Amino acid sequence: MQQSLEDGQGRRFEYLRLSLTDVCNFRCSYCLPDGYRKPADAPANLSVDEIRRLVTAFATLGLWKVRLTGGEPSLRRELIDIAAAVSRVPGIRRLAMTTNGYRLAERAEDYAAAGINALNVSVDSLDPARFAAITGHDRLSEVLDGIAAARAAGIGTVKLNSVLMSGINDHELEGFIAFVQRHDLSLRFIEVMRTNDNTAFFERHHLAGAEIADRLDAMGWQRLAREQGAGPAVVYAQPGRPGQIGIIAPYSKDFCASCNRLRVSAQGKLHLCLFGDYGIDLRPLLQADDQQDELISRIAALTATKTPGHRLRQGNSGATPHLASIGG
Ligand code: SAM
Ligand code: SF4
Repeated sequence: MQQSLEDGQGRRFEYLRLSLTDVCNFRCSYCLPDGYRKPADAPANLSVDEIRRLVTAFATLGLWKVRLTGGEPSLRRELIDIAAAVSRVPGIRRLAMTTNGYRLAERAEDYAAAGINALNVSVDSLDPARFAAITGHDRLSEVLDGIAAARAAGIGTVKLNSVLMSGINDHELEGFIAFVQRHDLSLRFIEVMRTNDNTAFFERHHLAGAEIADRLDAMGWQRLAREQGAGPAVVYAQPGRPGQIGIIAPYSKDFCASCNRLRVSAQGKLHLCLFGDYGIDLRPLLQADDQQDELISRIAALTATKTPGHRLRQGNSGATPHLASIGG
């Protein structure tokens, strides 16, 4: 009988978020405000072969979607080799990447050729000065050029991610909507999440997803029916108009009930929850092709123990210093 990835709550896991590096070149104010600092004892990142074995084991368990993330995945030198290896794993139908858009314009065709067929690009402001203030980099136009290049390269799904923050960029909601409709894009507003490193920032700038939903309602946006197997985003559209807006609201009740994803860090630790207390090292089982059976059993057994939900509403972010360390 084929094993599948299911936990004690009956949730099925068909989606892996795989971090390729903790390193990032941006300094987003909610994530790495002082920039990435390399720890003295940083272990090496998973190699291409280790990643191939890891994804093959997950695919054997019915997983079909992988998202490459980080840190900033485009900083990983072997990115193209990794993408090509993952997209060739039998059973993997969707290879997505989340990026800050670094060098996207010049690399979009290589990404498409390597099998990346979905891209989320983080754009927290459409105002160049505010974009620079949030990310530490004056690169908005470069990132927007990258989005256009990704679409021109034939990457089927290109979405924007925006963290909406009270007193920083929440007044840009209408501007984002106009942009989405003008370019027939899909955008996800992500509620800022508390991590161990950003508690003061979170207290000052957290904006509840419900408030964004109310503003969309007032503008005539309608909530779409959830597709089977969809993740936690609630998606809205305006009848007869192009573009879609999703809201990812981890503080909302029942958010975790639709969790469909698992995470593996750049060093090979399985994180059953983004805000869990620890990761479980899979690396010893990634060293040779003949360890696959043991790896598959271990992943299935660990997944079965996933906790029902995070404890963010209780102010507990687990062991997560910032999302760049686990792959957001
Ligand atoms: N560097 C890439 C990027 O920014 O797109 C990929 C990694 S980043 C950790 C993945 C996503 O997590 C980004 O869309 C980012 O805006 C979001 N993110 C990071 N920290 C967050 C936080 N504390 N709360 C909400 N979203 C966060
Ligand atoms: Fe880097 Fe992404 Fe974190 Fe911004 S959100 S600092 S781009 S990892």
